[in-house]
Amino acid sequence: MSLVVVGSMAFDALETPFGKTDKIVGGAATYISLSASYFVKPVNVVSVVGGDFDQDHIQLMHERNISTEGVQVKEDEKSFFWSGRYFNDMNSRETLVTELNVLGDFDPIIPESYQGCEYLMLGNLAPQVQRTVLERLTNRPKLIVMDTMNFWMDIAMEELQKTIALVDVLSINDEEARQLSGEYSLVKAARKIMAMGPKYLIIKKGEHGALLFHEEKVFFAPALPLEEVFDPTGAGDTFAGGFIGYIAKTGDISFEGMKRAIIHGSALASFCVEKFGTERLKNLSQQEIDNRVQQFVSLVKFDTVLQ
Ligand code: AMP
Repeated sequence: MSLVVVGSMAFDALETPFGKTDKIVGGAATYISLSASYFVKPVNVVSVVGGDFDQDHIQLMHERNISTEGVQVKEDEKSFFWSGRYFNDMNSRETLVTELNVLGDFDPIIPESYQGCEYLMLGNLAPQVQRTVLERLTNRPKLIVMDTMNFWMDIAMEELQKTIALVDVLSINDEEARQLSGEYSLVKAARKIMAMGPKYLIIKKGEHGALLFHEEKVFFAPALPLEEVFDPTGAGDTFAGGFIGYIAKTGDISFEGMKRAIIHGSALASFCVEKFGTERLKNLSQQEIDNRVQQFVSLVKFDTVLQ
């Protein structure tokens, strides 16, 4: 059952067609751990923040049974800061600012209580740091899932490829899959990326859902058609958190099990985008989650008669 999540904890400043926020709490590990906490307890986080980080948020993590024993606090430094702006379709965004701050020289520490974990989620972070975490775990987890982004493809492609080679599942968006593989067709891109190491590849397509590739098999999960999307920030991480959280809960790492996990990840992501930042992920009920999953089932289920 045990899950370790590695990734950024951040301050974000966001601009969407619906409004703007000043600095609010964000970061890959933040979204992943909140999302996974609806499926598995505890969620063990490895990250780093500055002395300026929001203590109320750490408190919230504790209330949701998220362990921050592996979160280093650099009292005299500033937390990672990211700022982004979404275009009208909300599917594409531009990064305005990335200030690595404490992430610049992050040397991850794995607490003894995290050792022996069965599942590992390597959230978006410098690829060499993701690899260091792997090296510092005494046993290889049963399943390693990794997320990354174009930022690291631009500045650390070689390091990124070394890390990708070590994981079981890679989760990236369609643009990133094209950049990583040099192929426009996502089917060709998937084949090339799986040849780099991961046996499973998830390609996220924003409001158009997500694809899961494994050998010659493909599964498609739609995104829930929502009337209003306020802020897509963290949707990919929330998706990943729901995916690994559900797998950690069920222990099922078969392709069929991963299909169910992708639907649960998509359900959690559909909540994330309804409000700014992590707001909507703070207090979901089991009933709300079950209803969403049921909506997904209805969305894709159909009968047909073959002629
Ligand atoms: P997503 O919308 O799922 O891609 O994730 C957005 C989150 O990723 C934001 O909360 C950011 O703080 C975080 N983020 C953005 N750029 C980076 C980066 N280069 N490394 C780590 N985390 C990042």
